[in-house]
Formats: sequence, structure tokens, C-alpha cells
Amino acid sequence: MQKIKKQIRLLMEENDKLREELARAYGQAGDSTPAREGLKNLWDLYQQGFHICNVHFGRIRTTECLFCEAFWDREREGGR
Ligand SMILES: [Zn+2]
Repeated sequence: MQKIKKQIRLLMEENDKLREELARAYGQAGDSTPAREGLKNLWDLYQQGFHICNVHFGRIRTTECLFCEAFWDREREGGR
């Protein structure tokens, strides 16, 4: 039990960090200039199994997520 609680706390701390990271990436992506660095970070997170959509934002992704895919498609095309 104790171990699980610790695990959860670690995950939540990690989540906070990711949210900050994502918030920064989103902030940059909101401008007209594409945030290459931010996009790469998002892609890394996505590959590591985290949500990059603003619906589940930084949570662990256990299944395919339509929001993430839609978000990613839009971001990629936004780079033009
Ligand atoms: Zn998602």
C-alpha cells in the first residue's frame, strides 16, 4: 500500500511538471510561429504514453485517444 501511494505521489508530481511543460508548449503553439521545440516535446510525451490533448492533458494514456490524434494532426498541419 505504502509503495503504491508513493508511486501515485511521484506520478502526480511528474504530471505537474508535464503540465507546466505542456502549458508552455501550448502557449508557444498559440502564436503564429510554430514552436518546433514544443512540438518535439509533445511528440516525445505522446510516444512515452502520455496525453497531449487538452482534454486529458499530461495524464497517462492507456488507450488510443482520438483527442490526442486530432490535436497532433492539427499541430502538424499548423506548421505550414
Ligand atoms: Zn488524449
